[in-house]
Amino acid sequence: MSISQSVQMAASLEEYVLKALHSVTEGPGGLDIVSSGQVFDVVATGGAVRVLLDTDHIPDGTEEMLAEVITPFVEALPGVDRVVVKPRPRSIAMRESLPGITHVIGVHSGKGGVGKSTVAVNLAVALAQQGISVGLLDADVYGPSCPTLLGITGRVETTDDGEKIAPMNRHGVSLMSLGLLLPEGQALIWRGSLVDQGLPQLLTDVDWGRLDLLLVDLPPGTSDVHLAVARHASLSGVVTVTSPGQVSIDDVRRGMEMFADLQIPCLGLVQNMAGVACQKCGEVGALFGVDGGGDLAVEIGVPVLASLPFVPELAIQSDLGEPLVISRLGSAASRVFHELAGRLATGLCIGERKEVLS
Ligand code: ADP
Repeated sequence: MSISQSVQMAASLEEYVLKALHSVTEGPGGLDIVSSGQVFDVVATGGAVRVLLDTDHIPDGTEEMLAEVITPFVEALPGVDRVVVKPRPRSIAMRESLPGITHVIGVHSGKGGVGKSTVAVNLAVALAQQGISVGLLDADVYGPSCPTLLGITGRVETTDDGEKIAPMNRHGVSLMSLGLLLPEGQALIWRGSLVDQGLPQLLTDVDWGRLDLLLVDLPPGTSDVHLAVARHASLSGVVTVTSPGQVSIDDVRRGMEMFADLQIPCLGLVQNMAGVACQKCGEVGALFGVDGGGDLAVEIGVPVLASLPFVPELAIQSDLGEPLVISRLGSAASRVFHELAGRLATGLCIGERKEVLS
């Protein structure tokens, strides 16, 4: 299933469930639960449906009773596999869009070390090569590695008028990273108020210009950084990177739950280090589990956007600050990144893409 198909299917199921909930009248004054504002929204990921309640509009002490009424009602609707009824997260109401930027997409993983930043950087460069104006915000505040992966050194400066920070540019990608603000070698632990105050500035105090797409390299797992990004940028969706092993998959599931609660759709999975290619014959053998990402994608009804084996060259080139899509354009791995970029751009209907020989 393509991104646009899965997004369309989810949207029509959401609409259908919301319409059906109009026939449940548990509201004050005999109103139905949608018209009375008790149901804030419905979010579907595949057949899994979340009904988000607005606790400001629910009479005290009736939330549990309401969940008991809604759950069997929605479960009985065609196309619905699972139902969760929850209060809506507070952050949603405060979400802002970033002027001049068409789509903001998070790149996320359940665990560290699965290749999330490597995928984010090569995807960004592949998109730029296809003629899409793209920015990359390195929000992995616990280990900002995008400057290294793009071969960028130095520190950012302000724009000529001194009003904003000018992002750095390499291979057609505008980059902003915490790593470009701090003195070299200095580590800073981002917590609580620092995240709340500093992160929005990385989004809004940067002169991004006009972008088709801003990719945000998020930290692994679930954290206040994710909530801060969701609060200050209207994310069109997330791309989730996982290795095929079970531990990574379990962490991914937790991340999915968080994004579903935030009403941010998962656009699909990238399965990284899915096997290892034999250096002699090219045959791909198993590495970390077999196809955990594929199984999860089927379970939650999202597409596998790309599957990339362990490619020793990718690790070597990354350490040298040369994205593989630049240094090995034409290699099998480079083609995977270009297919991923093409799928994402087509799914989001952005840019006038040009064909790239990869
Ligand atoms: P994360 O952002 O998830 O913590 P990184 O992108 O920093 O992970 O990647 C972790 C390490 O794995 C890096 O050394 C990187 O070069 C390497 N790596 C990532 N993907 C691959 C791959 N498909 N083949 C070989 N090495 C990879």
